[in-house]
Parts: sequence; structure tokens; C-alpha cells
Amino acid sequence: MRLRAFSARCSMNPASVIAIPSELLRALRRARFVAVLTGAGISAESGVATFRDAQTGLWTRFDPRELATPSAFARNPKRVWDWYAWRRERVASVEPNAGHRALVELERRVPEFLLITQNVDGLHQRAGSRKLVELHGNIARVKCSREGTIVENWSAEASEVPRCANCGAFLRPDVVWFEELLPEHALAAAEDAARRCEVLLVIGTSAEVYPAAGLPTLAQEHGGLVVEVNPNETPLSARADYVLRGASGAALPRLVSASWMP
Ligand SMILES: [Zn+2]
Repeated sequence: MRLRAFSARCSMNPASVIAIPSELLRALRRARFVAVLTGAGISAESGVATFRDAQTGLWTRFDPRELATPSAFARNPKRVWDWYAWRRERVASVEPNAGHRALVELERRVPEFLLITQNVDGLHQRAGSRKLVELHGNIARVKCSREGTIVENWSAEASEVPRCANCGAFLRPDVVWFEELLPEHALAAAEDAARRCEVLLVIGTSAEVYPAAGLPTLAQEHGGLVVEVNPNETPLSARADYVLRGASGAALPRLVSASWMP
């Protein structure tokens, strides 16, 4: 039987306490498998510009679709490489926040756990999350644009786009571009988690882009509870079993501490 949808809303005042229904706390405490889907919102709280917002200064005149597609890279590899180098530097200068850290704590508390992220900034790993899959890759990693092999040693200092030592093709960031498919193993692991979890937290993502957008539906079809954590209403809000309307940096620490309070 489905629980009645409950929406715990609070004002946008960060000092206000986000009310969390006790049934949700019980469900989380009893869950053998908790899955989490995160998106740009949790990183934005650390100061990582969202994809669209990353169009500042030098890059304002480019559409992201002209910087994040295989055809853009084929046309002008240097421009695409430089844009990612710039974003990589920005990401390196920010720190994981209380929301990231609460998910590390959650991973320690539940028997089975999987963090599924659409973010490429590596902040979950830096916070200490271990059981995670990256649906869109990682901006810190680099791969051969022809063979797809991950390359560990490359120079960030070079003025030209570095090339693969094996085949001579340009190196590129190991991220999923527009027009590209998600990594098969990552998507399979995410779908398996959505099917088997008792609770799926959907954090800081509008969950509009498929296939990630299908994960909440998959979870609900298999009896899982879907909990949205987002300061803003999204297309998922009406379908979620619970909505925690607040920033993840405030809501997640509270959710975790309240669930396992003695
Ligand atoms: Zn190669």
C-alpha cells in the first residue's frame, strides 16, 4: 500500500526547521537499501555554477550545446578543451557541503546503499562517498576521444589539446556530452538500485532529463518510496511520496540525524 503523499514545506529562511514526517523517518531507519539520485542543486550549494550558469565572461557568447557535443569537439577541439579546463579549475576551488557530508553518513547507516549522481564535479567522492555511480562521467577524468580509454597521465599545462600516447587522437574530458549515451554499466547499476531500493532520495535535480528521470518511476513501480529534496517545485513534486522543500545542505543533515536519533 502506498503511503499518503506528504509535503513538508518550509519557508526559504535557512534558519527555519524543515518538518520531517515520522513515517518517513521510520521508513528510512528500517530500509535495507537506500538509493540516492543527485543533480546540480546539491553542487550549486557549494558554489559550482550550473551548466547554464557556467556561461560567464569568456564563454557568454557560446551556447553550451556548442561546447558539449562530439561535433563541437570535432570542429574546434581547443575551444571545448579550454572550456572544460576552465570548469575543472572552478570545481577544484570549491568544497563539498553539509548535504554531501550527510550522504556519507547515510551510506554508513544503511546496509545497502547506492549514490547515483548526474554531477561531474567529484564533490561526492571528495566528501567521502564510496558506493556511487556517475551517470554523466567526471570532469577530472580524461579519455582518448577515439578509443575511450581513461588516460591517467596528461598535462594540464599544455597550450594545445593533449593527445593519446597510444593512437595519437585528441584527449577529451570523460563526461557525457549532448548526443551521447550514458555509460551502460552506470545506467544499469542505477536502474537496478531503483528497482530494489525501499527509499529513493531525489536531491537537487529537476528529474526532467531521461533516462535519469525514469528512475523515480521505476522505484515507485517496485514499491520504493520517492522522497524529493529540493528548494523548488519540480515536475517530480506532484508524484513524490514525500517532498522536503528546502536546500539539501539543511534538509539532509536533519533527515539523517532525525532518522537515527536514539
Ligand atoms: Zn587513443
